[in-house]
Amino acid sequence: MVVLSQMRRSGGFWLRLDGVNILQDPGPGCLVMVHKHRFKPAALDAIILSHRHIDHSNDVNVITEAMTGGGFQFRGCLIVPGDCLNNDPVVLQYVRPFTEITEIKEGMKIEIGNIKVTFPIRNRHPVETYGAIYEFSSGRLGYIPDTEYFPELALAYKGVDFLVLNVVRMKTDKKVRHLNIDEAKELINEIRPKKAVLTHFGLQVLKASPSVQAKMVSEKTGVRVIAATDGMTLDLEEKENLEKWI
Ligand SMILES: [Zn+2]
Repeated sequence: MVVLSQMRRSGGFWLRLDGVNILQDPGPGCLVMVHKHRFKPAALDAIILSHRHIDHSNDVNVITEAMTGGGFQFRGCLIVPGDCLNNDPVVLQYVRPFTEITEIKEGMKIEIGNIKVTFPIRNRHPVETYGAIYEFSSGRLGYIPDTEYFPELALAYKGVDFLVLNVVRMKTDKKVRHLNIDEAKELINEIRPKKAVLTHFGLQVLKASPSVQAKMVSEKTGVRVIAATDGMTLDLEEKENLEKWI
């Protein structure tokens, strides 16, 4: 409902790691937000979908066109679960020759320029869903997208420096297969990143104030936790910058 009413934007997030540009989960409005924030889609090296649900994949075709100069310049790559390509595909047939397409498998490791990306574990969600760990020169960033809680997640993401979690609910409804705030707290406590970012809020979390919830998780775990806002920028090399200042 938050996406459909656009109470929060739904374009996914843009990573710029060691000069490599990756767009994760281009949901509805992604192309508009990319231009609003003055990013250049023609500079993208990769587009990654965690899963086929429309709030994560709606703009995948138009962003692929934008990455490849309207399909005239074969470049970059598109990395997606198999069910984004097969029956009722979200990646249109005519767009596929524009770029290199890779199907995600559990445990797969790939390199995009100097960045290593691992897909450590398959999530538990109604469609095929994978998070990722991005390894770059100054750290590792983990992304846990839509999933119900299961204990193996903590082991799969252990040791990441930064962690992005999709937290949709305050209380679990078994039908929707999403993390609630207590489960997110549990995962952050076990994974213990330097910094965690909560995002993908449903109505329940918005009503309970994401920043208040982030503060609560921070106090209970001792980990720095922030709630994402539309257009937020996060400096993943903050530590290096701090060292420079010191
Ligand atoms: Zn989903």
